Amino acid sequence: MIKQRICIIGNGLTGLTAALILGKLNLDVHLIAAPDKRRRRDIRTTAISENNYKSLINFIGNKYSKIFFESKEIDLYKEHSKEIKHFMNLSNKNKNLMFLFQNEILKKLIQRKINTYKNLKIFLKKVSEIDVEKSKVFFGNKNFSYDAIFVCTGSKSEIIQNIFGDRFIERKTDEIALTSIVNHNSNIVNAKQFFLKEGPMAILPLSKNKFSFVWSVSSKFKNKKAVPIIVKKFKEILKLKSDFTVSKVDCFPISFKFRSNFNKKNILVLGEGSYNVHPVAGQGFNLILRDIFYLNGKINEYIKNGIQIKDSLFIEEYLKQRKPENLLFGLGINFVNNFFKFNKITEPIKKVILKDINKFNILKDISLRVSNKGIF
Ligand SMILES: Cc1cc2nc3c(=O)[nH]c(=O)nc-3n(C[C@H](O)[C@H](O)[C@H](O)COP(=O)(O)OP(=O)(O)OC[C@H]3O[C@@H](n4cnc5c(N)ncnc54)[C@H](O)[C@@H]3O)c2cc1C
Repeated sequence: MIKQRICIIGNGLTGLTAALILGKLNLDVHLIAAPDKRRRRDIRTTAISENNYKSLINFIGNKYSKIFFESKEIDLYKEHSKEIKHFMNLSNKNKNLMFLFQNEILKKLIQRKINTYKNLKIFLKKVSEIDVEKSKVFFGNKNFSYDAIFVCTGSKSEIIQNIFGDRFIERKTDEIALTSIVNHNSNIVNAKQFFLKEGPMAILPLSKNKFSFVWSVSSKFKNKKAVPIIVKKFKEILKLKSDFTVSKVDCFPISFKFRSNFNKKNILVLGEGSYNVHPVAGQGFNLILRDIFYLNGKINEYIKNGIQIKDSLFIEEYLKQRKPENLLFGLGINFVNNFFKFNKITEPIKKVILKDINKFNILKDISLRVSNKGIF
């Protein structure tokens, strides 16, 4: 049988990770990615669960484990009228809970890895059109037909819009995520999540003297000088002295969006083009990784059994398994975010609910299990 050929479009974290993993299968793989003319660096930091880390490191190689910073605990805090109260500690018998990495570093490493794959070709071109009926992709002056096409072109993609239109399950927010890196001398080695009046802030350590933060705030912050406000906040909540520096702050729009449809014939959208979840629980890329690992297992099964993937049921099987979990996760994260939103009337009730919540070990075990391995 002629080797089957798949196409992955986009070189964000989703496209690159899909290429890293699916590129190990007995397939020909084309990765087509628009060159970034503005050379924008992705300054985001991402946290992945232990389970996802263990699966990913098999493809990256153990010697690169040093690009991940391990956090054994997560502490949760809530701001109640001018005081910050610790209400929960999540840990698991001294095991690592989260593995944190800088997106740009992982992307560069994956690029180097996939450059060595003999069955994978990279085209640095913008895809201009996809012919759904013929399973054909057009870019530059080239076009190819594929057995399957994975579109990983992000949340603002025109290509996805053209094929699937804009029907979403959507919860609009007026929030943005502010993110940057902080260098300090305060030996912070565990992740922290603060539910502040302005919005949730995650502290993600990258070494004992460096952390990244993600602060979801009202979009009105966009017009303000963010750094002085952030500096003041760190002094309050982390008790940092003046010996710390905040790098350039970047901002990302936040929404909960779930496409009602992200598959047509042999085309499947992966990553933020199909759904995006609020960054409060740091689950976006964790869900995407589980999607890619599931896809990898399914395609492998088809190849081993000598089944052609083109026009087969593998995408349907994928959607049946992954779509409900991703939607449930997205809605769950939205619920958590809404619960913690500052509201004068409900604040006293929340205070009572959170007072002894740290004693409910079953609740903590469930949340650790779900964020590590998913729901199903
Ligand atoms: C502030 C913030 C913090 C986050 N923190 C976490 C976290 O802690 N944990 C977690 O699990 N997730 C987190 N996430 C989510 C995670 O960052 C994303 O899910 C992840 O980056 C995946 O993005 P993507 O590759 O799908 O899309 P993108 O990063 O948007 O990549 C799309 C790529 O496709 C290319 N492209 C677009 N159109 C075309 C075309 N026509 N032809 C060819 N190429 C094209 C673009 O150039 C781009 O490179 C966070 C998100 C935000 C905003």
